[in-house]
Amino acid sequence: MDLFEKCRGFYSDPEVAHGMGYPASPREAQEMGLYPFFIPLDQSEGTEVTIAGKRLIMIGSNNYLGLTAHAHVRQAAIEALQRFGPSCTGSRFLNGTLALHEELEGRLAQFVGMEKALVFSTGYQTNLGTLSALVGRGDVIIGDRENHASLVDGSRLALGKLLRFRHNDMGDLERVLIGAPKNAGKLVVVDGVFSMSGEIAPLPDIISLCRKHGARLMVDDAHGMGVTGRGRGTAAHYGLTDEVDLIMGTFSKSFASIGGFIAGEAATIHWIKHLARPLIFSASLPAPNAAAALAALDVMEQEPERVDRVNAIAERMRNGYRELGFEVGASETPIIPILIGDQMKALRMWKALFEAGVYTNVALPPAVPPGESILRTSYMATHTDEQMGKVLAIFARVGKADEVIA
Ligand code: PMP
Repeated sequence: MDLFEKCRGFYSDPEVAHGMGYPASPREAQEMGLYPFFIPLDQSEGTEVTIAGKRLIMIGSNNYLGLTAHAHVRQAAIEALQRFGPSCTGSRFLNGTLALHEELEGRLAQFVGMEKALVFSTGYQTNLGTLSALVGRGDVIIGDRENHASLVDGSRLALGKLLRFRHNDMGDLERVLIGAPKNAGKLVVVDGVFSMSGEIAPLPDIISLCRKHGARLMVDDAHGMGVTGRGRGTAAHYGLTDEVDLIMGTFSKSFASIGGFIAGEAATIHWIKHLARPLIFSASLPAPNAAAALAALDVMEQEPERVDRVNAIAERMRNGYRELGFEVGASETPIIPILIGDQMKALRMWKALFEAGVYTNVALPPAVPPGESILRTSYMATHTDEQMGKVLAIFARVGKADEVIA
């Protein structure tokens, strides 16, 4: 069969999907007017965006500290653009390392409390590069089932095997650790803050299991940086930085840029630097992005009240949603899922919110298990109380109309 023939068909079994009234492909969702993806924004200054001339309050961004609009961050990016241009035109390994990258690495290592850090062009590549450089044939990666896709894909690039344990289930983690091959090198990997549920990983228990069973620990803190541990992430939140072997972060969220980093012992970082294919065979982080991340770091250090503010907003919104009768799960961070369940109900709710002026994200199967669709809402330090009041009022109206409220 021609390789492209399938592209005219369905993504899931059309009989099953249609039987439940669901679209069986993105094209069908578009035809039903219920397509929530790839929506082009005309303009954004953070908390509000314009789409086709319409203004919406943004509660679907990872810009937790609101720094994409910060004057210092924007100015730093502009100056770096003028000084270095928009591209390094080569990989870190050859012509693409700037003094700016090394300055950023030094500052990041200090910020998270590790010996050394290494900057990649995206967080996704950071996970692919780290896992594939460290986990060789015969070794195992032991990951939480709700870990980010980049950790799963990193395991595919690594020559070792991925073993998974039930989400935040320490009994199951121990079962997998005990069952791992005797001589395998073991790397336990977890999200510090889970990207869909907003839960914080139970690092104290994970660390003791790693010590007991001779495993190393890597924490992907893409959503913890700028948010937990006074902005320094989940290991700092528990005061356990010295007990974690590797901390990963991305610049595409609180750091208001793009890029990623891995931090740990000097020897480990040196090893990754010389073996990580996504670092060596891909162009390096452009100077404006490195400068923006450095400037964001300045702001995080100088304006810690932003971290308090985003967490206070999250607390208010969690309480607000609960008072309205919505379920928000076990979120402890500015990521607050609204548990809806049925896929069509989630899509209808997403659309009604959109039309009422609230931009949020919807997570549908296969991103979540069938029957567990959610609206993923997330907050910024720069959201105003007035904006948050409006969002809650709109949720109350829309939720009632769709009988989502319990
Ligand atoms: N890890 C987690 C937990 C993430 O949520 C993301 C991005 N959504 C990444 C890694 C990848 O980061 P980036 O966007 O920098 O590629």
